[in-house]
Amino acid sequence: MKDKNCIFCKIINGEIPSSIVYEDDDVLAILDISQATYGHTLVMPKVHFTSFLDVPHDVMHKVMDVAQRIGQVEIKLLGAKGVNILSNCYEAAGQSVMHFHVHVIPRYQEEEGFRLEMKSHPDNLNLPALAEAITKNLK
Ligand code: 5GP
Ligand code: ZN
Repeated sequence: MKDKNCIFCKIINGEIPSSIVYEDDDVLAILDISQATYGHTLVMPKVHFTSFLDVPHDVMHKVMDVAQRIGQVEIKLLGAKGVNILSNCYEAAGQSVMHFHVHVIPRYQEEEGFRLEMKSHPDNLNLPALAEAITKNLK
């Protein structure tokens, strides 16, 4: 299952060149062209799904397994001090390529092209009620 307008499907098909880190029947991992940090890698299924939220469990597990292994290598081989594993879901969250992928971003504790910041935002929230509502809607 491919989307002919999808840039990652084109990379998977070999129509667009990429620097391949890992490949098997189901998963492809390539270096991100933008290299937010040294070794920034993208892991994706070969089948086209829009995002992490849309992908079947077995496909997600295969992708996350490869992401974990690449993160481990980035620590051992590249000397990263940490790794951010993240997947942007939909445009509002910064997703720009609508083919599910996981970023594996090694961190070196220096000025880098990537920063993740979480600020405490709204106060006066009823956290127990919020947690209960989410729990009730979990499948
Ligand atoms: P998103 O913003 O969807 O989470 O991440 C998409 C990523 O794909 C970006 O970090 C961007 O640099 C990368 N990217 C976009 N086009 C290409 C490409 O043609 N080749 C490679 N290797 N990476 C790409
Ligand atoms: Zn695709």
